[in-house]
Amino acid sequence: MRLILIGPPGSGKGTQAKLLAERLALAHISTGDILREAIDTGTPAGKKAAPFMTQGRLVPDEVVNEIISDRFKRPDRPERFVMDGYPRTSAQAAAFDGILKQNHLPLDAVLILLVNIDELVRRITGRWNCPKCKASFHVPDRPPRLAGICDDCGTKLVQRNDDQESTFRERERIYEANLKELESFYDRQGLARRVAGTGQITTIFQTIIQALPRANQPVAHS
Ligand code: AMP
Repeated sequence: MRLILIGPPGSGKGTQAKLLAERLALAHISTGDILREAIDTGTPAGKKAAPFMTQGRLVPDEVVNEIISDRFKRPDRPERFVMDGYPRTSAQAAAFDGILKQNHLPLDAVLILLVNIDELVRRITGRWNCPKCKASFHVPDRPPRLAGICDDCGTKLVQRNDDQESTFRERERIYEANLKELESFYDRQGLARRVAGTGQITTIFQTIIQALPRANQPVAHS
C-alpha cells in the first residue's frame, strides 16, 4: 500500500503514520525527521533547511524534492510506504507524481486529517520529544511515566523549537495556504479522503483504516 498523510502541524500525522507503518508494514517517510537529522549531522541539505525550519517556514521545494528523489533512487527504495509531511505544496505533489510514475508505484490513497485550530494549539504546546529515539509524548494527554524523561530510552525530553505558539501559528497559516491546491490535485485523481483527526489516538487510527480503499484494509484478527 502507498499512502500520503496530510495534516496541519499538531494534527498527529506523525503518530498515525508510525501506527500505519507498523500495522501495514510500510516504510515511514517523514521529511521533517529527515531534515532534522540532516541538520543534526550538518549535511548540505541540512544547512540549507535550518534557517527555514527554525522560523516555521517551508524548506524550498527543490531541497525536499531532491531528498525524496534520492530516497527513491536507492537500491532499497520503498515499494510500500506512508509519506508523512510530504508533499506539502502543489509543486512538491507534481514532482512526487513524476517520481512515482518513473518507479511504477501508483498511490492508493491520500488521507487528509481535519483538526480545528484551538485543539492544534493545545496539542502542540504540550508536545515533548525524545532527541535520541524520537519517541513523542504529550502533557497532559500522553505523559511519560517519569516527568521529562523518555519511557523508551531514558533520555531527557525536549520541545521542538518550532513548537513555540507563535512559530506554530505561522506554520499553520502556511499549511492552510497550500492545502487547497494540494486537495484539488489529489481530488482530481480521486485519491483524497478526509478523516476527523480528533479523539483518542486509537479511534483516529480506526477511522483512517476505514477510510482506506477496501482491498487494502488489514484483516481483523479474532
Ligand atoms: P514536520 O515534522 O512534518 O512538522 O516538519 C517540520 C518542519 O520541517 C516544517 O515546519 C518545515 O520547515 C520542514 N518541512 C518538513 N517537510 C517539509 C516539506 N515537505 N516541504 C517543506 N518543508 C518541510
